[in-house]
Amino acid sequence: MCPFDSLFIVSLLGVYNKMKYNKPCLVTLIIPAYNESESIIDSLKEILKNARKAPDVDYELLLIDDGSNDDTGKKVEIFSRIESAINLISFTRNFGKEAAIQAGMENAKGSAVIIMDADLQHPPELIPEMIRLWRAGMPVVETVKQDRGQESIFKKMQVKLFYQIFKWFAGIDIEGLSDYKLLDRKVINLYLKWPEKDRFFRGLISWAQFPSARLPFKVSHSTRNRSKWSRLKLVSYAVNNISNFSAMPLHIFSIIGVAMLVFGISIGAISLYQKLIGHAIGGFTTVNLLIILIGGTQLLGLGIIGHYIVKIYQEVKGRPSYIINSDVEVSDNDQ
Ligand code: UDP
Ligand code: MG
Repeated sequence: MCPFDSLFIVSLLGVYNKMKYNKPCLVTLIIPAYNESESIIDSLKEILKNARKAPDVDYELLLIDDGSNDDTGKKVEIFSRIESAINLISFTRNFGKEAAIQAGMENAKGSAVIIMDADLQHPPELIPEMIRLWRAGMPVVETVKQDRGQESIFKKMQVKLFYQIFKWFAGIDIEGLSDYKLLDRKVINLYLKWPEKDRFFRGLISWAQFPSARLPFKVSHSTRNRSKWSRLKLVSYAVNNISNFSAMPLHIFSIIGVAMLVFGISIGAISLYQKLIGHAIGGFTTVNLLIILIGGTQLLGLGIIGHYIVKIYQEVKGRPSYIINSDVEVSDNDQ
């Protein structure tokens, strides 16, 4: 082979390697949205504008419309005709943010995903830095709230209590952590293999303890006035997440049971002794109080056992966490 030929092949290989390794990587932005019609298009523009500041990255933006009853889906669909990076996934009904995150992860094509809210409370300016950290070898980049922004004192207290109980019961400290995270493809593949259906995304990623980088952020103003979470929805979300990670409430009732038994035996022994020496207390009130106390505790314990049985029942049924509209749409070919 003449020297020119080998030189030519080597330079061709160089060009090939350059093309192969400098090929922009694909990152999927997963955005759950529920009734965000008012500001969704402005938010998407802002998110993409900031994301595109990272060099050599292509984006796929998955907008998960979580059964909105306004025209969020319609607006995004129209916008996706001019912004080809956007793909819309619409649920048949409201399945909740956790299900939307799950759907995003299951449908993402990127080498990494970034999960973020639709109301710009997760500042998109952090995306280039998240990508830089990921490229430096971090499989998970977590963002940590430095302050919770404009929230009532009552909500801040409620949230603090939840984090504290979660830490005591599950042994995992998730205070300040948010769902705004970057995950590498390897982490996503692992996460999707776990069979658990009823998931607490933030908790599961912390529980796994993947090597991670942390970025502090201040929660920005929301593009709307009200949170999509009602007080009741938040409380049931908190109870559900605690019981997803800990069987401690059941253990506490075993301990209460033992304490009650010791207490009962002592009272029984005292009563028997008093009866034998002829000083039994005529105690209608005492009996009443004891019945209420023991009955109440037993019912509460049964309720907690019931709660865990419901969770087992739901997992065993294996019902899907969400249904996507396009999976049930009838096309002309089907008819
Ligand atoms: N969201 C959702 N399904 C719901 C409730 C909320 O997909 O049932 C989305 C919502 O559109 C937003 C994100 O979850 O993108 C966080 O919601 P929100 O801003 O109301 O929560 P907060 O800021 O109070 O945590
Ligand atoms: Mg918000």
